[in-house]
Amino acid sequence: MPPSLHPLVSADDALDHVLRDAFPMGTEVCTVDEALGRVLSMDVQAIRTQPPADNSAMDGYAVRAADTDGAPVRLLLVDRLFADSSPARPVGQGEAARIMTGAPVPPGADTVIMQEQARAGEGWVELLERAVPGQHVRPAGEDAREGELLLEAGTPVGIPEAGLLWGQGILRVPVHRRPRVGILSTGDELGDPAAPEPGRILDSNGPMLAAAVRAAGGSPVPLGRAADDPAALRAALERGRGLEVLVTTGGASVGERDFIRPVLASVGAEERFWRIAIKPGKPVLHALWEGTRVFGLPGNPTSSLVTFQLFVRPLLRRLQGLPDDGRAQIPARTVVPLRKAAGLRHFLRARVESRDGSLWATPLPTQGSGVLRSSSRATHLLVIPEDVTQLAPGDPVGLVPLHWMA
Ligand code: AMP
Ligand code: MG
Repeated sequence: MPPSLHPLVSADDALDHVLRDAFPMGTEVCTVDEALGRVLSMDVQAIRTQPPADNSAMDGYAVRAADTDGAPVRLLLVDRLFADSSPARPVGQGEAARIMTGAPVPPGADTVIMQEQARAGEGWVELLERAVPGQHVRPAGEDAREGELLLEAGTPVGIPEAGLLWGQGILRVPVHRRPRVGILSTGDELGDPAAPEPGRILDSNGPMLAAAVRAAGGSPVPLGRAADDPAALRAALERGRGLEVLVTTGGASVGERDFIRPVLASVGAEERFWRIAIKPGKPVLHALWEGTRVFGLPGNPTSSLVTFQLFVRPLLRRLQGLPDDGRAQIPARTVVPLRKAAGLRHFLRARVESRDGSLWATPLPTQGSGVLRSSSRATHLLVIPEDVTQLAPGDPVGLVPLHWMA
């Protein structure tokens, strides 16, 4: 079959292929700081009871609730307790202790009265209202009890989780490893952005996709540039052998010097799909080369970035145990009328604003797949389904959020 007649795979089927048999990777232990944004690969047990003792949630007075039954009542002040105090004596009948937030509730006392509901003098305090036992007392172990499950395997470590761990004195945790992602730019025309030569197309895709890999939690492995030559491409691919993921750009389409597909076949990679029914980014290839998942992305800078977002990023997240199957769309409305031919699913780079309880999306003025400037300042991709040919202003559309903002 001539390559141009090769059947297109749908965007949904392509993502199914990408995520098939993709499971979170093994464990590495790292500091809580390094674990932020990653996922616990094992349960983490609490090693301290937190808070360690019943303590006051308010600045006020620790008393026996029964003593307030006849409020207003006057009690004898017998102690003053701060967050770092250890109560020296119990609170007896007819007695109260001045207590600050976080201070341990002394034995005998079973409730805390806010200072706003008391009137204090020299050595005494008058309580104006009845109190119930346990009021304004934070029980020991409210956040965690020593030995119990603190955070389950599979929990993403966000800022509160990190706080919980630091509060336990747990400084290192097991997380799923980051996938290593080889990045190879291909094309005879490419030059080095650090040594620009006139007339060359500077390899922006390499460093740009490395940044996108990092933003998706992966660990980029730059493999440099290769010419449009089967032997050179094979040698360059070898440099990425054994990595979890390998991303190439350029040379994946039907041009006379597009060699990625035959070269991958020649090294024994098993093709899972080639060419997706989408715009931009149709000529995407996906193959399994021994244990390495290979993506042949288009060379056009915007196509490579959009297809990375739609097909590579979900895989990188899945390999780290992060939630995100890449299919979620946010409901919105189009500001302008839109038209297209039936057949491909279109992804328009758009800006979005919130108005009248809806999100309203405006596609950026130029959508050319070679034009990176049109991607600048896009916050979402506006999705027009395969069979839709026309949308009027206000019609519902789906949005894919982008993660391109610095
Ligand atoms: P290709 O997919 O090889 O047909 O390339 C499509 C277009 O993308 C051509 O105009 C290339 O010059 C351009 N291109 C390919 N690779 C890169 C790259 N690494 N950086 C910037 N532009 C590229
Ligand atoms: Mg090329």
